[in-house]
Amino acid sequence: MLISLVVPCYNEEEALPLFYAEAARVADGMRTSHGAAFEFIFVDDGSADGTLPAIRALRARDKRVRYLSFSRNFGKEAAIYAGLQAARGDFVATMDADLQDPPALLPQMLDAVRDGGYDCAATRRTTREGEPPLRSWFAKRFYRLINRLSDTEIVDGARDFRLMRRRMVDAVLSLAEYNRFSKGIFSWVGFRTKWFSYENVGRAAGKTKWSLLRLFRYSIEGIVGFSTAPLIIAAWVGVLFCALAFAGIVFVIVRKLLFGDPTAGWPSMVCIILLCSGVQLFCTGIVGQYLARTYLEVKHRPLYITRETEQDL
Ligand code: UDP
Ligand code: MG
Repeated sequence: MLISLVVPCYNEEEALPLFYAEAARVADGMRTSHGAAFEFIFVDDGSADGTLPAIRALRARDKRVRYLSFSRNFGKEAAIYAGLQAARGDFVATMDADLQDPPALLPQMLDAVRDGGYDCAATRRTTREGEPPLRSWFAKRFYRLINRLSDTEIVDGARDFRLMRRRMVDAVLSLAEYNRFSKGIFSWVGFRTKWFSYENVGRAAGKTKWSLLRLFRYSIEGIVGFSTAPLIIAAWVGVLFCALAFAGIVFVIVRKLLFGDPTAGWPSMVCIILLCSGVQLFCTGIVGQYLARTYLEVKHRPLYITRETEQDL
């Protein structure tokens, strides 16, 4: 039984040795307790610091370590995809390099998947302790919104820390879309998932790579990728405005015929034009989001480009 650990790494030179030490400790424990062999797949997502040399050094020490290094930063989603493609294990786990996903949970997760009749063990954090309050607030709003808009359930606080059976990994890989939103993809493929909860732990070392702006863009990715509801909303706003305009026309005509009022002034006109053109641009923008993603998909660009793997050593 082989277990692959897929670890996306972007500028993680500080956290990497800590991660490796902990993961290797858990792996050794599981070799005796579960008879499991391990491979560690580090995906260097175009790091600018000493991450790649650090990974090479680990490989030189430990042949269980395999790696892929991208030609530039392609993002965490691409890194996870690349790692899943490279993984050969019967079970594959994805986890962050900063020890926010505790490897110590792996034995329990394996038990659930191997013996409990599940295909996947997923994790969620119950608290957002140690996170800026503004970020938590936006995150909460985002999960409420996307679950209203989308048929695919997106679990609040779900982490990308998962252990999957081979059949689920193959299903995830079959979704080769360019605009990836893992939380949605894992949920979309279905399968039986057991959830584990734990309290949020801070980063072991290094800094987070996710600014508020980056998270915002990622949230748009999620909404556009897993719901077409905004398009329908745009259409309904159009219908609503037509109805309002029609009521307005009737009102103006009736007032003119019954009371002979002159139709007054341009200020109201300016407001109406501004409002209507604003709504139109907004709706066009929504359509544009979908169009842009369609464009990116039909180009069929690769999700990532590899510069080096352990075979090049
Ligand atoms: N990561 C990556 N590519 C990126 C950004 C992040 O591979 O462009 C990796 C990063 O090295 C880490 C994981 O994704 O292993 C999660 O990133 P981070 O800890 O910065 O996010 P947070 O936990 O703060 O949400
Ligand atoms: Mg982290």
